[in-house]
Amino acid sequence: MTGPVLSFLGEAHREMGPAAAAKGHPWRHGEARGIHWLVLDCAGSAVNTISEGVLTGLDAALDQIGTPKALVIRSAKPAGFAAGADIDSFGDMSDRGAAELLKRGHAVLDRLERLDCPTIAVVHGAALGAGFEIALACDHRIAIRGATFGFPEVKLGLHPGLGGTFRLTGLIDPTEAMTLMLTGKTAHTDKAKRLGIVDAVTEERHVAAAVAALAEDRPKRPEPGLKSRAFRLEAARSYGAGRMRDETGKQASRAQYPAPYALIDLWEKHGDDRKRMQSAEIESFATLLDSETSRNLRRVFFLRQGLRADARGNDGIAHVHVIGAGAMGAEIAAWAAIKGKQVTLGDVKLEALGHAMKTAAETCRNSHLNTIETRDALDRLMPDPRSYGLSQADLVIEAVPEETELKEKIYRQAAAAMKEGAILASNTSSLQLAALTGAVADPTRFAGLHFFNPVSKMQLVEVVRHAGTDDAVLRRLAAFCGAIDRLPVQVADAPGFLVNRALTPYLMEAMVLMDDGIDKEVIDRAALDFGMPMGPVTLADQVGLDIGLHVATSLSESLDRPMAPISQRLRDKVAAGETGKKAGQGFYDWSNGAPHPASDGAPPADLTDRLILPMLDACVECLRTGVARDEDEVDAAMIFATGFAPLRGGPMHYARSRGFSAIANRLEDLAERHGPRFTPDRGWRSM
Ligand code: NAD
Repeated sequence: MTGPVLSFLGEAHREMGPAAAAKGHPWRHGEARGIHWLVLDCAGSAVNTISEGVLTGLDAALDQIGTPKALVIRSAKPAGFAAGADIDSFGDMSDRGAAELLKRGHAVLDRLERLDCPTIAVVHGAALGAGFEIALACDHRIAIRGATFGFPEVKLGLHPGLGGTFRLTGLIDPTEAMTLMLTGKTAHTDKAKRLGIVDAVTEERHVAAAVAALAEDRPKRPEPGLKSRAFRLEAARSYGAGRMRDETGKQASRAQYPAPYALIDLWEKHGDDRKRMQSAEIESFATLLDSETSRNLRRVFFLRQGLRADARGNDGIAHVHVIGAGAMGAEIAAWAAIKGKQVTLGDVKLEALGHAMKTAAETCRNSHLNTIETRDALDRLMPDPRSYGLSQADLVIEAVPEETELKEKIYRQAAAAMKEGAILASNTSSLQLAALTGAVADPTRFAGLHFFNPVSKMQLVEVVRHAGTDDAVLRRLAAFCGAIDRLPVQVADAPGFLVNRALTPYLMEAMVLMDDGIDKEVIDRAALDFGMPMGPVTLADQVGLDIGLHVATSLSESLDRPMAPISQRLRDKVAAGETGKKAGQGFYDWSNGAPHPASDGAPPADLTDRLILPMLDACVECLRTGVARDEDEVDAAMIFATGFAPLRGGPMHYARSRGFSAIANRLEDLAERHGPRFTPDRGWRSM
């Protein structure tokens, strides 16, 4: 985009002057046919983020524009308009510091809004958060097809803070505006046009003409619709706000996620008075910024960035061959093909391959691929019953049933066919790699790639190293995860690796509690109240009770620490074929969709700690034994593989905030009352 934007400006393009340019000023100026262009180009980054420097730069830029026919704001970055506020800059800012900073930002956008000439934001790619707020401070918005608009702040425990709350509710139907802000969802071009966020949609080559037309015509803003006028009445807003609170309450409680409720309060109280809503928005944003929930959700954002950084680089993998087209192999193959890899998929059963191709088409649909993208993805995925792809592949992923002899047989066959330098990876979830290396041609190029089910939804992949795996191979596998838009975390070869080792005690304890006579709804409710996206009984059903039983059995056999006894009820369910969601019946009845465990019953005093602390204890053990590298990776892995309560910032962050010794003492206490499975790992003492 830099090319088209700046070449369009051609001779007219000039920098802010030598001094400003030397400081890496984010705004570039241009003038063409009496129209002034301000082009945002944040230095040293592929995307624009809105920092204090960008806003003071905009203020300074407005000093220099003179009296143009119109002012255009757009981005020089191919990636899009702007990705939102620079979250780094929030740091540990106090609420007062944030409020002062926001007031200065508001003053700049108010100034932009008050300019005499028409102001036009030209948006390609994403205009998110504060980027969208800059576009909203302009009189008009032109979208280049493909542009998206949204306020993801709610996912960080915040709401818009740079004028978005009153400008968007003032521009479009307030209920649509509030829905966008409350859900954090983005509006794609057509929806943005339909909602009235953008005035015109065009192609890059017609931007100059579209800008000239708006500058000449100076169209008036349409009068507010009936709904907008009705919501000027307090009673109407109170009614609307009540419904929004009910909807929000189905997703999250006010105590856990205050941001959406603060936004509703803001609109209900001040939706008819822009000035008051502006100052209330600043105060409310600053308060939320200081909240525990927002701090932890921002932490989750940075944890994701950390894993993404580990996934950079060239994987050198063009062709992937997947062995086994079952539940996991089919998904891994489809996902890799969707993300651009050439994939061959082998299985001894033709019907498994047929089913895998159907699954792939479904995954394309669920991933919102258009017809051409779907066609291309399915072209890249080739069923390969004779395993021709094995000799072509740069990476071979084995995903056959969890049987040592079968995997060994497959590795021996693969050794003869695989090309020089190719990597062999197993998706095993419970076998140790060390026990399989004997059958592998070159153990330095053998590792685990432990995907989670469903691959298209679960972002984490454990990249498992055994003692002999080459570091370069691990780096390539991490880069492969990055290339297919998954998040890699490196773990050592140990029973259950990291995620299953930590998750299993939690699931097993839930079953012990059921055996003790506690209702599954009470157990699930306690986990939801802690902040988990679903309770352990629902999760066990979703994972598959057969898989859960297999992992629990294998962990109980291989760990030298006591585990909870495997529940007879679990064994009975599996024996009866009631394996959970996939069977339509597990502990819950799934025949009419996902269960919604509701319970008014008060959980017994120890219940939440009995569920959560064994998980924390296993995390500490994994750190002590070197299975995981550091606390941040543990937190990231548990959040992105299991959904561990993001508002707690991860299991280790939660343990740290509660106090390591307090947790160790509490585990001692639980061990006395409920058995030695709660005895704290010795790692707590050195934390
Ligand atoms: P699955 O039983 O659904 O599929 C296995 C497939 O392998 C079947 O289609 C089978 O026909 C095929 N197969 C058997 N022998 C073969 C051979 N010699 N050559 C080629 N194909 C052969 O199993 P799954 O659930 O997909 O599990 C596969 C692996 O993934 C296991 O190691 C498991 O531990 C691991 N895993 C499973 C899950 C899960 O939730 N299912 C999650 C993570 C990891």
